[in-house]
Amino acid sequence: MSNEPEERYEDSQLYRIRHSAAHVMAQAVLEFYPDTKYTIGPPVENGFYYDFDLPQPITQDDLEKIEKRMRQIIAVGHAFVKKVVSAEEARQVFKDQSFKLELIDGLEKDGLDEYGNPLDEKPEISLYQSDTFTDLCRGPHVETTRQINPSAFKLMSIAGAYWRGDEHNKMLTRIYGTAWSTPDELKQYLKMLEEAKARDHRKLGRELEIYIYDEEVGPGLPLWLPRGGVVIEELEKLAKEMEENAGYLRVRTPHLAKEDLFLHSGHLPYYAESMYPPMEMEGTKYYVKPMNCPMHHKIYGAKPRSYRDLPIRLAEYGTCYRYEKSGELFGLMRVRSMQMNDAHIYVTEDQFEQEFMAVMNMYKKYIDLFGISKYVMRLSLHSKEGLGKKYVDNERLWLKTEDMVRRAMTNGGVPFVEAGNEAAFYGPKIDGQVWSAIGREFSLATNQVDFAQPGRFELTFMNKDGVEETPLCIHRAPLGTHERFIGFLLEHYAGNFPVWLSPEHARLIPITDSQNEYAEQVVAQLRGQGMRVSADLSAQRMNAKIRGAQLMKVPYMLVVGENEANAGQVSLRVRDGSRQDNIPLAEFIARANDRIATRAGEL
Ligand SMILES: [Zn+2]
Ligand SMILES: [Zn+2]
Repeated sequence: MSNEPEERYEDSQLYRIRHSAAHVMAQAVLEFYPDTKYTIGPPVENGFYYDFDLPQPITQDDLEKIEKRMRQIIAVGHAFVKKVVSAEEARQVFKDQSFKLELIDGLEKDGLDEYGNPLDEKPEISLYQSDTFTDLCRGPHVETTRQINPSAFKLMSIAGAYWRGDEHNKMLTRIYGTAWSTPDELKQYLKMLEEAKARDHRKLGRELEIYIYDEEVGPGLPLWLPRGGVVIEELEKLAKEMEENAGYLRVRTPHLAKEDLFLHSGHLPYYAESMYPPMEMEGTKYYVKPMNCPMHHKIYGAKPRSYRDLPIRLAEYGTCYRYEKSGELFGLMRVRSMQMNDAHIYVTEDQFEQEFMAVMNMYKKYIDLFGISKYVMRLSLHSKEGLGKKYVDNERLWLKTEDMVRRAMTNGGVPFVEAGNEAAFYGPKIDGQVWSAIGREFSLATNQVDFAQPGRFELTFMNKDGVEETPLCIHRAPLGTHERFIGFLLEHYAGNFPVWLSPEHARLIPITDSQNEYAEQVVAQLRGQGMRVSADLSAQRMNAKIRGAQLMKVPYMLVVGENEANAGQVSLRVRDGSRQDNIPLAEFIARANDRIATRAGEL
């Protein structure tokens, strides 16, 4: 478990190295293509990029010469020199750089930073110069180019990117690079990328027949194939068990609702950008739901509640629809329809801590069950400046609920890090960041406190003194959405699901046709035990059948020949390569049932 508070990326030397490498790359690109217009080049996770408007297209082969030139620039040891200037001076420097002029206008007039994000106060305009290259930039940078290790960076790829991410703007050329402190770190990172490619959930999702997309159905709307359906069913079964044990009540709500509901909740107009456009029926506008919360609030509010009834925990694997730009859709990670492991818990203030911690304990159980060894719980807080804009304007309640969460986490001994200005609109939240087996980070789960929505919906309960009070609401989704979670699991397990999650527990492999009948008997018997089994009765040779089962990552292969058929036995070949020849069928059943019932990680 590695959940020590870490240094902020923005404050790290690696961030400076990567940002500086972006400048050096831009210099090299400008030397090769002097008519280039350059835009912005920030550090990103694991590296950096720069977006250029190039006078000619470039290819992967061009990256090599750019890289080579970068090494020459680095070797000289040019200093990065900062200079604070007026907007007018900056305009002079960038008089031929239209994008920079636009950025300067933004800095000066709208208080936007160079990436187009609003700044709290009017920014100073600064330039950073190294060798012949000058950028409009807030830094920070390394002292000299020599602090970029020439053997620890690499230009990775070329992609198209719209200026300011807006598809109405010009398409630019983005060059991605990666940079590290040591060549060893670079090597490790490249190795991890190789592994990630092999585990890519889009590749595995197709090969293992988990999900597909269909042109006519539409982008971002996955179709779950039977094997994916099994994984979903198993995850829901798990969630239902956990939630029933914890006193949750299951509800079901429709996929669309009248505009009024979302005006009431405040999703309209604040969240409208992420919603599908409305459809009109009988003179009324309807929207597909982007979240389940408003409907659950209605269920809570459907009858009078007393403090004795609380906590009330309403759970639903609800399907929500959110609009994501087509360019941002990505496999199962960014989709437009999602099935959410959702629940809303209505509590009194006194019950808050215990209930919040019960949710955190549920998280921990899932983390252990899925063998996630690295994770961080992040407490996202409001910012004073965002009150009334990004955040509900009630500082007292913000401070109070943030403190409640902090205290609950500390008392419960759950390690966490704090992040300012990252909260939800209506309250602080805990985000679960998890790392897959190969060390890639995923943001999966949330646990949020809401002190605003219950009030908007006039939700109340009668307290001990017979006075109406507003409950707090906890929004929680430990397993996130099926889409993202299964995408994560595919990578995490490299498609090798534990037995209980496997779409197919076992496959019978008769050596010749003569054992087909016995194989079918065994299938029937195992199905009677609730197992998911099939028999490969094709005309292929045994080895081809085994290969077929291995490709689908079936955990148990049961080979049956004449001896096995006569003795009521099977020869077990396990996905990990181990074997047990000629064992009684009952012995296999006992082993498999144990692994399934205990949701074991081992085979
Ligand atoms: Zn810079
Ligand atoms: Zn919610």
